[in-house]
Amino acid sequence: MRFPLALTAKIAAYIIGKKMRGVTKFATVLQLEPLHTCNLTCTGCGRIREYSTSIKDMMPLEDCLQAARECNAPMISICGGEPLIYPHIEELVAGLLDQKRIVYICTNATAMRRKMRDYLAFEFGRSPAGIEYHIEQLVNAELLSDKDVEQIHKGPKDPARKVIAPSDWMYWNVHIDGLERTHDLIVEREGVFKEAVAAMRMAKILGYQVATNTTVYKETDPNEIEEMFAFLSSLGIDGHTISPGYEYDAAKKDMVTRLGVSPENFFLTRKMTVAKFSKAEEWGRKFPIFGTPVYLEFLAGKRDLTCSAWAIPTRNIRGWKGPCYLMTDGHFRTYSDLLEKTNWSSYGVVNGVAKDVRCENCMVHCGYEPTASLGIQSKSGDMWKTIKFNFGARPAAVEATGITAFNGVSIGNGHTADKTPSSSAA
Ligand code: SF4
Ligand code: SF4
Repeated sequence: MRFPLALTAKIAAYIIGKKMRGVTKFATVLQLEPLHTCNLTCTGCGRIREYSTSIKDMMPLEDCLQAARECNAPMISICGGEPLIYPHIEELVAGLLDQKRIVYICTNATAMRRKMRDYLAFEFGRSPAGIEYHIEQLVNAELLSDKDVEQIHKGPKDPARKVIAPSDWMYWNVHIDGLERTHDLIVEREGVFKEAVAAMRMAKILGYQVATNTTVYKETDPNEIEEMFAFLSSLGIDGHTISPGYEYDAAKKDMVTRLGVSPENFFLTRKMTVAKFSKAEEWGRKFPIFGTPVYLEFLAGKRDLTCSAWAIPTRNIRGWKGPCYLMTDGHFRTYSDLLEKTNWSSYGVVNGVAKDVRCENCMVHCGYEPTASLGIQSKSGDMWKTIKFNFGARPAAVEATGITAFNGVSIGNGHTADKTPSSSAA
């Protein structure tokens, strides 16, 4: 199976329950943004630009937990900003797991190893013998230094503080947009890919579940995406989500003013998305991509879907963001307000016609995957196809033979060789 049985069963039971009660609009995944602060400035990121005036604000822990209770989505994606900067991240993860939610921590991975060292120190304080084997493995894999080990052997700084421990109900969801050179160009910092790979290797040794999320831009080479999936497969990564980039207004303005890059050279039109994703179904068969084969068919231009953005709502410091993760026409006080006060029929693309001009080029995961997974426009055979995709054998691990994943700063081919993301992020 691509996704653990217990987690699939929880989501299926939730959706069936809603459908049996005749509820037509409900949340499947909550995008929870406790803060918008980030230590990176990725080129296509709308968040750090749109919320620049409240970048230091944070949601109180209880508001985060209440948002999950309020919409009752079975899956919570903690994003941001960089959620590992949130001072209550450990308590938030623990609180959501206590609520029996499936938790994704969407991270750029720069602080992931530190959080896992905190877990090791906590475990060492509890049961030194139990964790020593892992510490040795990590030292041998050059993922812990002597200084790290010394620190871990001192135990936790505060034994009462929670840590992020491996759980069958939690995934690290690491942002990876390509191999080293492309990824570091997009995140605008050298060394981030290398650190993310080290963090994912460490997480797998410690028994965490690890997924990745990838955004495809105009300059992304589909062949490189395939190589990236093969490389991630060789690391034992559990699954992936992939989505075309959306042209955020704020990100577009930033590109023009800060980077002098024309947004047309970076973001995809619908036609370009379909061309980039022409092999999406093949990727779905070869690699453990999460979701539905129907969404992959949509990305490959084989069928039409409408938008169901209400199923993946966003809650942040200003409220429930409407209509979707990408576009902002308002922030609402409650999830019910978002559902009731949004004119959903004025968004999306129906029969090739954009209901709102800002939706014209959008085919993103958070708008269209729920349409597929909830069977909103299902055709005969879709259900069986989706069951086979998710319950069938998991795609076998792939050898990364002949793939040069570290093709950037690690081999002296960093940003200084060519600084412009739009001309070299391929
Ligand atoms: S890591 Fe995420 S939140 Fe931070 S700048 Fe990049 S895309 Fe934006
Ligand atoms: S199509 Fe849906 S998800 Fe995309 S921008 Fe429009 S409302 Fe948002």
